[in-house]
Amino acid sequence: MTKATGVYLKPGRDKSVHNRHPWIFSGGVQFVSPDIRDGDVVALYSAKGDRLGVGFYNSQSQIQVRLISGARDSVDTMFWNSRLTHCWQKREALRRTTTAFRVVHGESDGVPGVVIDVFDSVVVLQLSSLGAVRIRQVILDWIIQTIHPKSVLERSDSPSLAAEGMTPRHELCWGNPIVPQTIIESGLTFNVDPENGQKTGFFLDQRDNRRRVHDIAPASMLNLFSYSGGFTVAAAVTGSRTVSVDSSASALGMIPTHLSLNGQSSDAHQCVEADVFDYLRQTQDHYDLVVVDPPALVKRKSDVDKAARAYKDVNRLSFRQVNPGGMMLSCSCSQFVDWTLFRQILFAAAVESGRDVQIIGQFSQPSDHPVNIFFPEGEYLKTCLLRVF
Ligand code: SAH
Repeated sequence: MTKATGVYLKPGRDKSVHNRHPWIFSGGVQFVSPDIRDGDVVALYSAKGDRLGVGFYNSQSQIQVRLISGARDSVDTMFWNSRLTHCWQKREALRRTTTAFRVVHGESDGVPGVVIDVFDSVVVLQLSSLGAVRIRQVILDWIIQTIHPKSVLERSDSPSLAAEGMTPRHELCWGNPIVPQTIIESGLTFNVDPENGQKTGFFLDQRDNRRRVHDIAPASMLNLFSYSGGFTVAAAVTGSRTVSVDSSASALGMIPTHLSLNGQSSDAHQCVEADVFDYLRQTQDHYDLVVVDPPALVKRKSDVDKAARAYKDVNRLSFRQVNPGGMMLSCSCSQFVDWTLFRQILFAAAVESGRDVQIIGQFSQPSDHPVNIFFPEGEYLKTCLLRVF
């Protein structure tokens, strides 16, 4: 009997599929039908020939199959439209309080390799799997019909694309040329440049933490790795005095505008262009709240030890700048630093700083960056709110 066309797993390698994990690594694959091409939607079978689901195939990636569904025989435009619309509906409550949010968060939303962000009338699309590239037009049509943006920009420029056999792409896919957008988030106003800003223009995933900083309303705040001052503004509108530190002059340059958009003069708010590590080694000032939000210091699994040291250093030095009884909001957005390691890093930093530290809050991503319970890799952002004595 001839085998049905598809990807067949090695014996015993279907356990993760039964546990609904969406990735099949190359080491688990026994056989691939010869007519299958990279980017195809393929049927996945166990070694015994049981049908397990459908997914995007890519022989060039370590992740050979990204599962789309465990139940379907095939996927068509209607299937994708309904899955994308489901994501859109799940953001309905959020859409009432902000004009900037993530509509689709890749694997965690069942759309492997697809991220869609909205910044007022601009939609930014990021594709990071070959299968996703194949359905680009379907996604684009859905965006235009459902979100009604003025422009759609593709920013598929992640450094991980090469490992997927993909070429980076940064171009206007539809509509008017991109112009900077003014977005509203929980009553605060920010300018976002989807074309040139870091990430897709604004750190949407820090929305809930910005609200936390606003609620703390510290008398003084040191905002480390401040980017365009999201936390700075959240504190400033409560009357805080702030210092924002970042190595990017263009990011810092947006802070005075953001302050003024929110009715604040820049007088009580200092911006410092510096390497945070250098800055912390020379500063003598103390604050009621220190925010530590470094970029992903670990890009590869092999870098974890080196990055853990850097995280520990920056947290140790930051503890020193907190007034007794004050707080620190410490974040890690590295996927390879899990909760256990992150708490170990904070523990070691606290020991070395000689301060007493309590954890008073632990937070993950906001609701538009959901974590699929079967895909723990999707939980990348970890935040600890600490009281420092
Ligand atoms: N907290 C920001 C996002 C931080 S992203 C927000 O809420 O919007 C990380 C920022 O760190 C970027 O703005 C980047 O320019 C800056 N950065 C990276 N390495 C740095 C370093 N060694 N010293 C200072 N800033 C750094």
